[in-house]
Amino acid sequence: MSETAPSPAEGVKDFVRDVIREDLASGRVAEVVTRFPPEPNGYLHIGHAKSICLNFGIASEFGGRCHLRFDDTNPTKEEIEYIDAIQEDVRWLGFDWGEHLYFASDNFDKLYGYAVHLIEQDKAYVDDLSPDEIREYRGTLTKPGTESPSRNRTVSENLDLFARMKAGEFADGSHVLRAKIDMASGNMNMRDPVLYRILNATHPRTGDAWHIYPTYDFAHGQSDAIEGITHSVCTLEFEDHRPLYDWLIKNTPVPSTPHQYEFARLNLTYSVLSKRKLMQLVNEGHVEGWDDPRMPTISGYRRRGIPAAALRDFAQRIGVTKSDSTVEVELLNHCVRDHLNKAAERRLAVLKPLKVVIENYPEGQTEEIDAINNPEDETAGKRKVAFSRELYIEQDDFMEDPPKKFFRLGPGREVRFRYAYFITCREAIKDDDGNIIELRCTYDPETRGGNAPDGRKVKGTIHWVSAAHAIDAEINMYDHLFNRPDPGAEVDFLNDINAASKTVLTGCKLEPSLAQTKVGEAVQFERQGYFALDRTSRADHLVYNQTMALRDGWAKIQAKEKSGGK
Ligand code: ATP
Ligand code: MG
Repeated sequence: MSETAPSPAEGVKDFVRDVIREDLASGRVAEVVTRFPPEPNGYLHIGHAKSICLNFGIASEFGGRCHLRFDDTNPTKEEIEYIDAIQEDVRWLGFDWGEHLYFASDNFDKLYGYAVHLIEQDKAYVDDLSPDEIREYRGTLTKPGTESPSRNRTVSENLDLFARMKAGEFADGSHVLRAKIDMASGNMNMRDPVLYRILNATHPRTGDAWHIYPTYDFAHGQSDAIEGITHSVCTLEFEDHRPLYDWLIKNTPVPSTPHQYEFARLNLTYSVLSKRKLMQLVNEGHVEGWDDPRMPTISGYRRRGIPAAALRDFAQRIGVTKSDSTVEVELLNHCVRDHLNKAAERRLAVLKPLKVVIENYPEGQTEEIDAINNPEDETAGKRKVAFSRELYIEQDDFMEDPPKKFFRLGPGREVRFRYAYFITCREAIKDDDGNIIELRCTYDPETRGGNAPDGRKVKGTIHWVSAAHAIDAEINMYDHLFNRPDPGAEVDFLNDINAASKTVLTGCKLEPSLAQTKVGEAVQFERQGYFALDRTSRADHLVYNQTMALRDGWAKIQAKEKSGGK
């Protein structure tokens, strides 16, 4: 499923958009240019979706453009698989970078030139300290750093060493290039930060051409400037890097002057949103891949049947702020239900079947009964479903000895079979172990369509499928991947994995039209929830994933809050 993002509501208000309105009004910028800068070292998650919606959203609202730039400066962790997956995910979310696809590695020559410029200005030097020593010399928040013995090398010595680092003469970790700023700065990032390190590794795009690679701090801002980015929006952990960002822009001959702004990253209950942890879940087999429907990845949500529009809506509702907080996953679920309630077609499906025989219904007869595709959308029309003498209903919809508030089937009780007839249960048949294996029922032929001409009412309406017409399916039911809202808060997050997060139901009975739904496009199984066909499904082996149950926990939480927590 792919769709184009509509322009978000006009006049969205947040501090980033306020800055942009001012910059456009004052003429600091003529056109807004933003970027989304993923590192291709894993799949995108819902936190990235927040950043994507913000950067692409701003560009479209203000008539500018947004670039997709891969921050591919660490060849030891990056792979082409991730580059492809990230592009697919951004497109699926509904955004388009047009011709503006860039890679930090496209700028390696220019970045090298900027580094040489810094050396020539005596603003960078080659350091021989080991990574451990560099850390030690850096000092602490309360103690100033110590200058490296290499700090006062001559410009020509530095130029020579840097050229030899580039040529591959040295081992990994033996030298780095550092900016010469201030070892006593109150901001640790300004204590001669590393700009280049030696990595004798093959890069997915530049192969073996380079033996040195720029650090994030050096590559990021300079790439922003090369691309003409006006507003470089990133997450709060980079706030303390901003003075360095500005210093590097000021001291290198870059073609433009981007500004950096920071917003709070998204945290979501019952989820982990660190690529390192997500990678661990995949590599150690705790889930079945990056697109496992329990993963908070964009590809996981897509596989589960969550529409892109719901993720965009979620991003808009959580907004953009400057203080960190954790969003309840129920808000995301609420957005999903909201969209699917309007868009998903309804179908009849029985997850845990119990056979029903309508004794007074003629053998061999089949009726085609009208069923409504979507009560929220008249244009979705109707379809025919087959009704016959032998049907399946949910095991849960029958109780031998029903309590007062159970309005479904029980011995002697009458209920409505959705769209069809009033049905009365006459007898429950059991196997030798006492399990109920079949219900013998009768129907009232006068109640076709589900209403009695004599005006009598029934309290329950249940769903069903015709046994002879039903198709079999396997259904994956999902629960939170973690047992607690804050996985890893007390012990390692892996200990908080919910062992019952996936349950496979087999022998589920579906109305036949469900063989034809599109992979990943959710439908509502009436009274059960939303489900989407899995990509592993075959004509002779249908597999559905549960997208979401119908119950709306979020609405309940809100109702509770409104009533003062009672
Ligand atoms: P991780 O911390 O999991 O390694 P990352 O931030 O290093 O993720 P990047 O590929 O560098 O991942 O992220 C690309 C962009 O997405 C960055 O601009 C980053 O700020 C933003 N981003 C990453 N995680 C979140 C989040 N949880 N909420 C909002 N934005 C995020
Ligand atoms: Mg990052």
